[in-house]
Amino acid sequence: MNLHVESKRMKELLANYVGGHWQKGAGEGVDLLNPITGEVLASVSAAGLDLAQVFAYAREVGGQNLRSLTYGQRGLLLAEVLKVLQANRDKYYEISRKNSGTVKNDTAVDVDGGLFTLGYFAKLGERLGDQSYLPDDEAVKLSKDGLFQSQHVLTPTRGLALFINAFNFPSWGLWEKAAPALLSGVPVIVKPATATAWLTHEMVKDVIEAKILPAGALSIICGSSNGLMDQLQPFDVVSFTGSADTAKVIRSHPAVVEQSVRVNIEADSVNSAMLMPDIGAEDLVFDLFVKEVVREMTVKSGQKCTAIRRIFVPEGLYKFVAQAISTRLSKVTVGNPENENARMGALVNRAQKESVISGLEYLKTQTEILHDGSKIALLDADAEISCCVGPTLLGTINAEGSDRADRIHDTEVFGPVATLVPYRDLEHALSLIARGQGSLVASLYGEEPSALAKAAIAVANLHGRVHVVTPNVATTQTGHGNVMPQSLHGGPGRAGGGEELGGLRGLNFYHRRTAIQASAGVLEKL
Ligand code: NAP
Repeated sequence: MNLHVESKRMKELLANYVGGHWQKGAGEGVDLLNPITGEVLASVSAAGLDLAQVFAYAREVGGQNLRSLTYGQRGLLLAEVLKVLQANRDKYYEISRKNSGTVKNDTAVDVDGGLFTLGYFAKLGERLGDQSYLPDDEAVKLSKDGLFQSQHVLTPTRGLALFINAFNFPSWGLWEKAAPALLSGVPVIVKPATATAWLTHEMVKDVIEAKILPAGALSIICGSSNGLMDQLQPFDVVSFTGSADTAKVIRSHPAVVEQSVRVNIEADSVNSAMLMPDIGAEDLVFDLFVKEVVREMTVKSGQKCTAIRRIFVPEGLYKFVAQAISTRLSKVTVGNPENENARMGALVNRAQKESVISGLEYLKTQTEILHDGSKIALLDADAEISCCVGPTLLGTINAEGSDRADRIHDTEVFGPVATLVPYRDLEHALSLIARGQGSLVASLYGEEPSALAKAAIAVANLHGRVHVVTPNVATTQTGHGNVMPQSLHGGPGRAGGGEELGGLRGLNFYHRRTAIQASAGVLEKL
C-alpha cells in the first residue's frame, strides 16, 4: 500500500508547491482529521512563504509558458494529467474515505466528477486546435461601405488564477476550475479548504511529479489564506467557493475594489425541487421526485452546494410526499464508510456537525419534524467522536405555514436536511421559490411539456440551472445536483452571482474580451 494512505502513518506536514519547488510552511500547522475516528491524518501550514515571489513566479513563468502553447497543445496536457489521475484513482478514494468520511458512491461524485470534467476540457482543447485566440461572434460593419468593421476577440488574461476552494469538493472543486484555466493559458494557484486539503494536495503532487505541465502552471498553497488576496494584481482573477460570509470578505478586498481583479463567487444556496400541480401520488413522476429528493439529501451527507433544501409540493400531496420520503430515509444506513453497509458517511468535521445541529434547531422553530435523524444508530462509528448525523426531513405543515416560514428560504443547513413546503397553486409555488433570493439550481418534475417549459422560463432568472424531469428522461437525466461541464454552474443573488463551466463559456472568465476595429482585410489576417 502506498505510504501516504497507511492509516497509522506519522503525521505529515503537507508541503506547498510554490515557485517551482516543494516548500513546507513554518510551525506545526493545522491538523487534518478523520471525521469518523478523530485520528490526525496530516497537517498544513502556509506560514513563512514568500508570497510575493510565489505569485510573481506563477504569473510570469507559468503565464508565459502556457500562453506560448495553442489551445490544442494545452488540451493535450490536460489529457496527460487525466491519465495520471486515473492511474491513482484508488488512492484518492482512500484519502476521501479517511479525510472526508465519504462512502464510495459519494467519493465518486467528487473524484470521478473532477476527472470527467478534466476529460471534457481536454477534448474541448482538441476541438479548438491551433487557435491562439478565440473569436467572439462575427465581425460587424461599422462604416457605411462595410469596409471598416469590429471583431470581438478573447485572449487569455496576463495574470494568474487564484482558487480559494470549499471543503466539500477537494477534487472536483480543483479540476472544474483548473481545467478551463489551464486550457485558457492561465496559471493556477490553488488554496484548498484546510479540512480536506489532503486529496487536493495528493492530486497536485502526482501531477507535478509526472512533469506534464510547464513550470509555474500549477501551484498549491495549503493552510491559511492570510495574505493571498494581497498579492493579486489587475490582470489576475480569483475564484472563490465557500460560505456567503467569506465571500463578503473576498468581494470587499482592496485587490477587487481598487485594482479591478476579476472575481467569481460560488456561495451557498437554498436550492429547490418542485412537483408540478397536476401530478398525483400514483404517477411515475411522483416516484422519480421522491427518489431524487432522498438522493440529494443523503449524497455526501447533504454537503453539496447544489443539494435540494426546499421541496415544493401541491398542498394536497404534502402527507403523501412526507410519507414516501420518510420511508426511504428510514432505510438510509449511516456510519463508518469502511463498513460496506453504510450508505451515508460523516459530515466533514465537528464544526460542521455543530453548525448542522444548530441550523436544524433554527429551522425547527418554524417547521414540524417529518423524519427525525437525530436518534439514528450508527454503523461502526461512535456518536460522540464521529461527525455522523442522520437525515432529517422538516415540513411547513400547510400553505400558510410555507408563507410564514421565512427561515427555510434563507438558511442553508449544510447537511442531510431538507424542508417539505406545500403550496396552493403554481403561482404560489413560483413565488415561494423566488424567496430563495437566487439559487444554483431548481428542479421541476412534471409531465406536461408546455406547462414545464413555461415554469422553467418563469424561474430561469433566479437560477444558474433549471433541471426539468419528465417520464421520458427518467433513466437518462443527469440528476438535480450533478454539475455537468456542458451546462452552466453558478447562480445569481445569494448563490454568489458567479458563472462557471457551461462548455466553451467556462473559458470566458480567464480571457479578456477586446473589440478590434479595422478594415476587413486586417481582420481576415487575425
Ligand atoms: P468557507 O468557510 O467560506 O471556506 C471556503 C474557503 O475560504 C476555504 O478555503 C477557507 O480556508 C477560505 N477562507 C476562510 N476565511 C477566509 C478569509 N477571511 N479570506 C480568504 N479565504 C478564507 O466555506 P466552507 O465551509 O469551506 O464551504 C462550505 C460552503 O461552501 C457552503 O455554504 C456551500 O454551499 C458552499 N459551496 C458552494 C459551492 C458552489 O459551487 N456554489 C460549491 C461548494 C461549496 P480554510 O479552510 O483554511 O479556512
